[in-house]
Amino acid sequence: MSDENSFATLPLSKEMLENLKNIDYLKMTPIQAKSLPYVLEGRDILAQAKTGSGKTAAFGIGLLTKLDIKKFDIQSLILCPTRELAEQVALELRKLAKFKHNIKITTLCGGVAFKPQLNSLRHKAHIAVGTPGRIIAHLDKGSLKLDNIETLVLDEADRMLDMGFMEDIQKILSYMPKKYQTLLFSATFPDDIITLSKTLQENAISIKTMDIEKTNSVKEHFFQVNSNDKFQTLVDIFTTYKPKNSIVFCNTKIQAQELATSLRDKNIDALAIHGDLEQYERNDVLIQFKNESCPILIATDVAARGLDIKELSMVVNYDFPFTKETYTHRIGRTARAGKEGIATSLIDENDKDIDMVLKYSDIKILKNDRNFSLQPKNITLVIEGGKKDKLRAGDILGSLTKDGGIPSDMIGKIDILAKQSYVALHRDFIEKTFRYLKNGKIKGKKFSVWVLK
Ligand code: ADP
Ligand code: MG
Repeated sequence: MSDENSFATLPLSKEMLENLKNIDYLKMTPIQAKSLPYVLEGRDILAQAKTGSGKTAAFGIGLLTKLDIKKFDIQSLILCPTRELAEQVALELRKLAKFKHNIKITTLCGGVAFKPQLNSLRHKAHIAVGTPGRIIAHLDKGSLKLDNIETLVLDEADRMLDMGFMEDIQKILSYMPKKYQTLLFSATFPDDIITLSKTLQENAISIKTMDIEKTNSVKEHFFQVNSNDKFQTLVDIFTTYKPKNSIVFCNTKIQAQELATSLRDKNIDALAIHGDLEQYERNDVLIQFKNESCPILIATDVAARGLDIKELSMVVNYDFPFTKETYTHRIGRTARAGKEGIATSLIDENDKDIDMVLKYSDIKILKNDRNFSLQPKNITLVIEGGKKDKLRAGDILGSLTKDGGIPSDMIGKIDILAKQSYVALHRDFIEKTFRYLKNGKIKGKKFSVWVLK
């Protein structure tokens, strides 16, 4: 390991360094190595970094180091384009914040109830992470005060502008104090990002790591198709690569929904995620994808924003994206944090003149197997009880293994939500578990259960 990328080269406290070691952050990623020295100096930063490059620690270590924990005021505000992304950032930050007790991080996003957020703000927090719309709602109501902000972060700023948040961002800026540090992260630098930086930053240091990360082991493969063999080519791609999990991108919601149905008809398990789904439906889909109950997620770009799927084996561009930026965003979801990944793209007659295709005209022969099927390892069981019922993952695990006789290695991820819990079970054990839970109890209480499918 080269010492120059060690966190120990930074002026960080012993506790911070100790915690980084504990959470397996052994050396800095390129964006962290390039930006953290300046972030810690208090400089404004305009950094180009794609999804999965470790941006959260690049700003998180900075703002956590500056934090006055005894002062219970919001000292850092992190703006994100989507709720999923904000929650992901909060999760990462909480890991990074474990070097001290009692650092309070609150998420303020739309699509969830307002009241708990009010309570959380009333009980004071140090750091707020959220989406622009909901943050403005709190500012208007007076429930959020930005007078003591020391650090403002705009995460995935290009996405925020794509989604039309420019005005909202301007409005939030009008609530900010005179002096604070601004850290702006973006995967691409279109003109409006440069303009945004100029209006809100002073002598910003500009950082780019794209070139280094491009070598970040995403293997790109392109396949020429026409409208008749497009679907079969997708099936052949699965047959050939047998990815453990993959995200397939479509350009429209309808296309995404139809493709998921067509694949399931072929015994290839897939679920669609797109903007027309209710929040609870999105949750159901995401939980199943993350807990290995569904190997393929069919997504539109909007729906896929901010999804952090660890260890994603493959990205498929079923519909080729309209811009290079979108292409970069999509394929950046595989090969995260230095892992290998595959990006496959179907190119049809309309995409012929895309210059990228010529650059990567690497020929790969696809296998064809009429009987190929792709089924998930697990199936998800829903228990009609959650945090509100004081259920914890340990209670469910205990009940299933001790009383239910289910081997613990057949039980996958357990997600506890407010009113429901999701348990991933090896498909061979789903029936036994279901039968047990229908009659058995958890923590002395009976809960209704059903299988998610
Ligand atoms: P981004 O915000 O750029 O999409 P994240 O900050 O969410 O990326 O980081 C992506 C993944 O890499 C996360 O799972 C995170 O825990 C991990 N990670 C980030 N920095 C490091 C590091 N220095 N060492 C090991 N893992 C890291
Ligand atoms: Mg992030």
